Amino acid sequence: MAMKRHKICPWIKRAALCAAVLYLAGCGAATQTSTSTPTADGKSTYETFESQDYFVVIAKAGDTAESLAARFLGDKSLAWMIEDYSGGAAITPGQQVVIPRKSWDLSGVTSSGYQLVPVLCYHNLAPQAKGRMILGAKAFEEQMRYLKSNGFRVINLKQFVEFVSLKRQLPQKSVLLTFDDGYRSFLQYAYPVLKELDFTATLFVYTDYVGAGGNAFSWADLKKLAAEGFDVQGHSKSHGDMVRAANEPAAEYDRRLEAELTVPKALFQKNLGYEPTILAYPYGRQDDAVVRRTKERGYATAFTVRRQGSPSFVDPLRIHRSQIYPEMSMDDFIKNLNVFSQEEIK
Ligand SMILES: [Zn+2]
Repeated sequence: MAMKRHKICPWIKRAALCAAVLYLAGCGAATQTSTSTPTADGKSTYETFESQDYFVVIAKAGDTAESLAARFLGDKSLAWMIEDYSGGAAITPGQQVVIPRKSWDLSGVTSSGYQLVPVLCYHNLAPQAKGRMILGAKAFEEQMRYLKSNGFRVINLKQFVEFVSLKRQLPQKSVLLTFDDGYRSFLQYAYPVLKELDFTATLFVYTDYVGAGGNAFSWADLKKLAAEGFDVQGHSKSHGDMVRAANEPAAEYDRRLEAELTVPKALFQKNLGYEPTILAYPYGRQDDAVVRRTKERGYATAFTVRRQGSPSFVDPLRIHRSQIYPEMSMDDFIKNLNVFSQEEIK
């Protein structure tokens, strides 16, 4: 086909592109224009057709989704929009590339199923794995490198929350990383790997542990991490099970639950300058009463540990997470990265 393209007269080529733009725009609105966009060196130009929603450009040698996203969308990190729209097709010189200018699918729901965003839940890290909750640093690094080399996009908490509020489209292969409890070993074993790979993460800390010495984060650690873009959010006061215990007197339980939800608010405000609005339930445990009180106390989003990804329409106060354990093989880890649920939707 490439050979034939050279023989097509420019007018026909242009008409075909305009037809593509009109098709994409979904109507015959006369919004498409043909422009020549100068390249950075100012010497050559792109043949560009644009509508309100899309650019269609003819790729040049050396173009990548990243370079086109940088040039046309002003941000190379939006390369996923080009890749996801084309279904991951390779970009070759002379080929038409459609560059969406804005979201085209906020829900991730299609005729064949729906997008899932895996939320991975980590705890403590150490040079060697120990028990169920201490993951070996090498295994963690391998998992992160797997995400990077397999095209996963590590999103931040705000982006995730906007997705489950139907306000933001996410890359098809999005994943959210979370670390529970507040172990300072994060700085030694996770932070350098995350930084190198340009990943971010969310830290869910319970406030009785912050500043407890040993392997606990200090508030100063958390403040520094928050300033660098890591999300620090709530994981209760004491890490006690928030569900009412059998035989627990009602008034006592009421006071206990209230403290678990509100004490962290005051401490976050004092030490980090904001109140947490997102919660990870200790052990993922909750029931309707816990969920109701969590919402009443100003937490808009809350995470369980139900092992599956979350669609955009998940209950925002019962978001799923998958705990990553030391005994998991790489294949086990990969099973937690399903990003699409195939369904018969009619
Ligand atoms: Zn925990």
